[in-house]
Amino acid sequence: MINFNVYFKYIKLKSPPKFRIEKHRIEYREDPLTKDICRLNIERTKRPHSFDSEEVEEEIESNEDCPFCRENIMEKTPRFERVMSNKEHVHYNDFVMLPNLYPFAQIHAMGILTKKHFVSYDKITENEWENAIYTAIMFLKAQAKYAANYLYPSINFNYLMPAGASLVHPHIQIIADETPPNYTKKILEAAKKFHEKNDVNYFRELVLQDKQREIYQDNNIWFKAKFAPSADKEILGVMLNKSSFCEIEDTDILSFTQGLVKILSAYKKIGVKSLNMSIISAPMCSDEEKNKEFGFFNIIIRIVARPKLTEEYTADCGFMEVLQQTPIITTLPEDLTQMMRDNL
Ligand SMILES: [Zn+2]
Repeated sequence: MINFNVYFKYIKLKSPPKFRIEKHRIEYREDPLTKDICRLNIERTKRPHSFDSEEVEEEIESNEDCPFCRENIMEKTPRFERVMSNKEHVHYNDFVMLPNLYPFAQIHAMGILTKKHFVSYDKITENEWENAIYTAIMFLKAQAKYAANYLYPSINFNYLMPAGASLVHPHIQIIADETPPNYTKKILEAAKKFHEKNDVNYFRELVLQDKQREIYQDNNIWFKAKFAPSADKEILGVMLNKSSFCEIEDTDILSFTQGLVKILSAYKKIGVKSLNMSIISAPMCSDEEKNKEFGFFNIIIRIVARPKLTEEYTADCGFMEVLQQTPIITTLPEDLTQMMRDNL
């Protein structure tokens, strides 16, 4: 009557220091009652942290050993087993993309936003964002081109430790998986239902009806304060007339990055020190006709403020937990059971 559903997916990458091909296992577990899915990768407890000891904000500027600093990238970061043009790392101007050493999605890349080791999020330039978003979307489109089943893609940003980042060096995370994060699943279903009932696209309707909370708009992008936020200072962005990354053109990226930099600069001015962002697309696959079935949805951007940086604190929630309602777990429940039993 109660099903404990578990399944596994395997990711291949070349890990430092020897860059032999290694297989990483991600476990997906479904809650027997709600059907919400969590993901487990016990290897993630081994992640390096910028912020392990007694350090304060000034000291995180030290870049010794940072794998994302230019002098360390080749030695200390993993390499793709296979990717666009057979490159092990993807470079586009100053942007560098590489696989996540501790993945929690079938496709899980990291993108290093800037050459600078420590830079406030509002100082990441339009150009740096453009390079990053352009490369991430090209990468996701290339992945979708060979995907028989739908992949649910997103581009994400944990800025500093209170937002769940393990490294100070500003980076984005590019993920796609055949299993949608819980939030993506819910919002796609809700938007579909809204469309069936009202015969209009929810997000386009929202743009028309929620002028009260509108913050910024141009021809391609709209940002507003969320009416019922799920975290502090939540802002919702909508890519107008675009359902998925498949449809994105250069002008959309330009608009988006211009708007984003303005929003981030305003966040900084109102005192936000740390934040999470997720850019969520409708699913994509190799079948162009199937990709057109999401007219009821628009690409959305969710941004929320996180607490200030304090000593020795790294939050255990990043974008997957806060914005995509999908816990990333590093302790197996069965191991926990054993540990607790042994210590009763
Ligand atoms: Zn660095």
